[in-house]
Amino acid sequence: MSNETKAATFEVLPQQTYVPCKTDYLWGETRHKPFVVWSVHGDRIKVWDPSGGQRLGGFRWIARRNLHESGKTKTGKERKTGYRLHSGPPEEDQELCGSCFRWLDLDQFDATALVYGHSTCRTCKAEIEKMYGVAG
Ligand SMILES: [Zn+2]
Repeated sequence: MSNETKAATFEVLPQQTYVPCKTDYLWGETRHKPFVVWSVHGDRIKVWDPSGGQRLGGFRWIARRNLHESGKTKTGKERKTGYRLHSGPPEEDQELCGSCFRWLDLDQFDATALVYGHSTCRTCKAEIEKMYGVAG
């Protein structure tokens, strides 16, 4: 037997999306929005955050240790800090829904936007229409 460490089971990869581990204020708390991994630089992860100040989102840096595979620790406790893997990396031809931050097949979308991360899937569109009414 070699001394090789066990294969890492969890890898942070570009285009994965993450959401806060503490979900009870997930959609209300502006500082804890989901984000997309843009690129990985060792322990520093560059992420794209759609609520990052500018209209089309902004970049920020997150420490690798804040990203987790699941919202539970190895002992089964709920994490209260950091972010857990939500979706991705995408398969070929998948598109990111800018509302629920899931990678979905193109036929799941009502309309795809030309701007990255601003498409809306059918499920989200139906919910938006239920809450705010149909546009037009
Ligand atoms: Zn969606």
